[in-house]
Amino acid sequence: MRLALVLALAFAPAARAEWVSRTVDGTMGTRIVVELWADDHAAGEAAIDAVMAEMQHIDATMSTYKPDSEVSKVNRLAAREPVPVSPELYSLLSTALEYSRATRGAFDITYASVGFMYDFRAHQRPSEAQIRSALPAVNYHHVLLDAAHHTVRFTQAGVRIDLGGIGKGYSVDRGIEILQERGIRHALVSAGGDSRIIGDRFGKPWIVGIRDPRAGPGTVITRIPLTDAAMSTSGDYERFFEEDGVRFHHIIDPHTGHSASKVRSATIIGPKAVRTDGLSKTAFVLGPEKAMQIYNRIDDIDAIIVKLDGTVIYSKGLEQLPAPK
Ligand code: ADP
Ligand code: MG
Repeated sequence: MRLALVLALAFAPAARAEWVSRTVDGTMGTRIVVELWADDHAAGEAAIDAVMAEMQHIDATMSTYKPDSEVSKVNRLAAREPVPVSPELYSLLSTALEYSRATRGAFDITYASVGFMYDFRAHQRPSEAQIRSALPAVNYHHVLLDAAHHTVRFTQAGVRIDLGGIGKGYSVDRGIEILQERGIRHALVSAGGDSRIIGDRFGKPWIVGIRDPRAGPGTVITRIPLTDAAMSTSGDYERFFEEDGVRFHHIIDPHTGHSASKVRSATIIGPKAVRTDGLSKTAFVLGPEKAMQIYNRIDDIDAIIVKLDGTVIYSKGLEQLPAPK
């Protein structure tokens, strides 16, 4: 009897550590990828379920396409009265305003006061007259946060906010936190152009490619080895349409209400995805030189910018990068 039990245990399928991964298209309008090293397959799948559930929660809170999201409620009411918001949204709004100050207003969630009139899928854009009349509402100073009451208020009618410029980065950070709480130490979480990595992969860094903005999806301008880092790329090729040779795409210059077109792509590397996501828009608005000055001044951040002529510039920390193979 005893021997039988021992034998049964010996031949039971042992829980084995393995890589578990999943790709889901659609949540937050993008592709979500989670890949991790788990003690056993079931634990890995359960951890991925938890990450996906969190992404759906963030989408339901932040989406401006969902009329019942918290952000939509703020957009409906905040010009009339202070709107109480969840601690999560409050803290993300504070972060957004902090990035506006750090980027001299290039990052500005009130871009949406004009931005809501663009529909890149339907090839629709506002007329010059529509932009002119909506533009005064674009200014992050119009968003007032009250820390004592956890409320948000807009100073004037017409102001709209959209957290699309940091939402994916934030959701990637939340995904990583959830995995860390479950004891996972090697993983990648990405949502569209925003990724974060913890640990290494088989003792080596993860290799992440940076896409060539004017070539097919498989063509890279360089490959970066990463461990314990986040990386965000913004590109003018992600969501765009062209009219008479002019490219209209999804990053808006808060000063003009037009697409910000001073670079083709910007990639930021840093410790957290919410920050790399927020900073990747700046180069489009300020141009490569001014943006690189800002990036070089911020600790823990590196940047790779593809300029309009196709040349690539690197921040100080990356100047030694090996050429692509
Ligand atoms: P993705 O949405 O794929 O993560 P990006 O990281 O490049 O792409 O972010 C682009 C998004 O940022 C836009 O779709 C819009 O929601 C938002 N956005 C556009 N212009 C600005 C801006 N000037 N400041 C802050 N957010 C912006
Ligand atoms: Mg992004």
